[in-house]
Amino acid sequence: MNREELLLATRNLMESQIRDGYYSFPLKSVPQPVIPKTAPVQATKTQAISENLQAVRTELGDCTRCKLHSERKNIVFGVGNPQADFLIVGEAPGRDEDLQGEPFVGQAGKLLTDILAAIGLSRSDVYICNVIKCRPPNNRPPEPDEIETCSPFMQAQIKAVSPKIICTLGKFATQTVLKNDRAISSIRGNFQTYEGIPVMPTYHPAYLLRNPAAKKEVWEDMKKIHAELCRITGKNLVRKGN
Ligand code: URA
Repeated sequence: MNREELLLATRNLMESQIRDGYYSFPLKSVPQPVIPKTAPVQATKTQAISENLQAVRTELGDCTRCKLHSERKNIVFGVGNPQADFLIVGEAPGRDEDLQGEPFVGQAGKLLTDILAAIGLSRSDVYICNVIKCRPPNNRPPEPDEIETCSPFMQAQIKAVSPKIICTLGKFATQTVLKNDRAISSIRGNFQTYEGIPVMPTYHPAYLLRNPAAKKEVWEDMKKIHAELCRITGKNLVRKGN
């Protein structure tokens, strides 16, 4: 190859490399994405909380830790806002919950939804879980070994959500969260504390279906929760009735 041919070949090579963008990478300034300053902080917090809850669910897995696993249709883990200010703890799934895999979707659940609406909250505002994640046969009360095995997952859910207020529904949820054996009738209506979080024990909605007269006391308890939630969060939740 003579000098002329060498120059031509070099020129052809460089032109094809320019067409392919070979020389543009360090020279061209690539437009950078504009990162908003506030939104990602919020997104990151939400994500972290959801990830913590997801980690609890992953740890629970396809649980066979106690005898309740053998008859369940679905594990009933929890539902609602992973950043909720208000967290509700029930006892254990019933038939409807076992079939649908979601807590409080039967008759007692409908009543709970109405009670929440009366203090200006929807189910998606709050986080709802149970002490026990699998339905006890014929809705029998949970047994001590089942509570001992399952309740650490409820505790982990509370830690992940980190609510401002907790409401325990009925004797089992109340005694398990508060680690005592006080009667629900003597403890309801007065704020207790779990890991620094105010806890309001009240009657279980299933009990209210059998004893509608007790709705009056639950309404008194809910009004206290409403007032405390508004005070702590600074939110104006619109309450119905007196
Ligand atoms: N009762 C409970 O305690 N939890 C449910 O999910 C349904 C009924």
